[in-house]
Amino acid sequence: MSGTAPTDRAGWVARAAGLTLPTGLFIDGRPEAALDGAVLAAVNPADGSVLAQMACGGVGDIDRAVASARTAWSDGRWRHMAPRARMAVFARFADLVERHAVELALLDSLSMGKPVSDMLAVDVPETVVTLRYFGECIDKVEGAVTNTVAEALHLIHREPLGVVGAISAWNYPLLMATWKIAPALAAGNCVVLKPSERSAFSPIRLAELFVEAGGPPGVFNVVNGLGPVAGAALALHPDVAKISFTGSTATGRQLLIYAGQSNLKRVALETGGKSPQVFLPDLADLDAAVDAAVRGIFDNAGQVCNAGSRLLVHADLHDAFVAAFTRRAAELYRPGDPLDPATSLGPMVCRAHQQGVLARIAAGVSEGATLAFGGGADPQRAEGAYVLPTLFTGVAAGMSVAQDEIFGPVASLIRFETEEEAVRLANDSIYGLAASVWTADLKRAHRMVKALEAGVVWVNCFGDGDMNQPFGGYKQSGNTRDKSMECLEGYLQSKSAWISLS
Ligand code: NAD
Repeated sequence: MSGTAPTDRAGWVARAAGLTLPTGLFIDGRPEAALDGAVLAAVNPADGSVLAQMACGGVGDIDRAVASARTAWSDGRWRHMAPRARMAVFARFADLVERHAVELALLDSLSMGKPVSDMLAVDVPETVVTLRYFGECIDKVEGAVTNTVAEALHLIHREPLGVVGAISAWNYPLLMATWKIAPALAAGNCVVLKPSERSAFSPIRLAELFVEAGGPPGVFNVVNGLGPVAGAALALHPDVAKISFTGSTATGRQLLIYAGQSNLKRVALETGGKSPQVFLPDLADLDAAVDAAVRGIFDNAGQVCNAGSRLLVHADLHDAFVAAFTRRAAELYRPGDPLDPATSLGPMVCRAHQQGVLARIAAGVSEGATLAFGGGADPQRAEGAYVLPTLFTGVAAGMSVAQDEIFGPVASLIRFETEEEAVRLANDSIYGLAASVWTADLKRAHRMVKALEAGVVWVNCFGDGDMNQPFGGYKQSGNTRDKSMECLEGYLQSKSAWISLS
């Protein structure tokens, strides 16, 4: 399905009705059922309806997908293709994703509740940019001839790893899958992707579009299935050279164990976050800062790894900040049907996650935090897994709402008095994915950037960036970087050839 985007809800609903949902595994360039015929239901979190029964891959399906990727690796159908030819495949791949924007927007919107407007403004365009960026890198990968003794020639080759297993999360189903598969394929690897079982439509479609773009069958396979079954089988597989993961810190920890139990494969982790946003008393524009704070936590209903869920606000700003935050949250984020282009806040990905978020809110109340607004499900939309935008004030650093990743539309505001206290509070976390600082003082901004323990620090903005920006965490937020050339490096290894001339 391609074509221009509908402008109203009725148009999107009509397009959804004509949609073909990809439900099979995708192995060796074609859709497949699971070997044992297992299926799992794809449920629309906006209304609880069952969208489709999807093939649910097991250990045997992972085995045959890895075998397909391994064969493609061994015969060199991808890595030995001329770099410019692989670049042409990537260019067509990006064009196809762009042409199928409406379809891809619907696939993610239906499966995990993201507003279609967000899909068209963020997820699909960023997916296209990711494919173009890594496609353009392909013939820029170079080895080296080192300066060494006269009796030898020393060459450093840079080679792909082999079969890469990618395991992705549901919060940006299309984009997170692409952040994994694009650099892996651009480096010349073959891939088996295990998408989140909650949102596998668009990752499957992505693999179909790769083949349509001229990508050889077997190079990019997709096995939807349960994490502890299909995901574990991929992570334990002896023929997988690397696992590239986006998901929770708990699962990331498990993947490191699997690598130790199997073949010491590389494990690249992009995991959880509890990002602080620090609002210093000399910030230039309170309204702009508050708008960024509101968007930083309520975009994608807070289901964002780098969500700015901890608001560290100087005492001098506190009351004005809370008033403005409360007003702007109500203006900008109201729950609605994800298929309505006016909607900015969709449901949680599923009922279980909604219940988990509500339980964490209840814990915050019982620990003594003040519920400034929100705090519950949306009574107007009980059939969906909605949670109302929520703000806690009076939060103390040790409370669970200050420490735990909630992964929902829940902001926790902690008041501070000094810059040193702000740094201490910001770094008081097992996570270190991202942070932001709001100040008009340049020296202070640089001081804060140095002091904050995070892979990304934004100054006087939140969430901005481009493909050159390495994205990933300090501490338990992960051990790798997505986007950027640094990411591509992670899918390559060096081979040193020492040639005696004597
Ligand atoms: P999750 O860890 O539950 O699942 C992620 C993936 O791992 C899924 O595909 C799942 O099926 C699979 N999985 C689960 N158990 C497994 C196991 N035992 N073995 C192998 N695979 C297994 O995470 P989620 O709920 O899908 O995603 C939300 C989490 O992802 C949040 O913590 C969020 O912060 C994180 N995230 C991080 C980034 C980042 O770039 N750092 C980006 C997006 C999301």
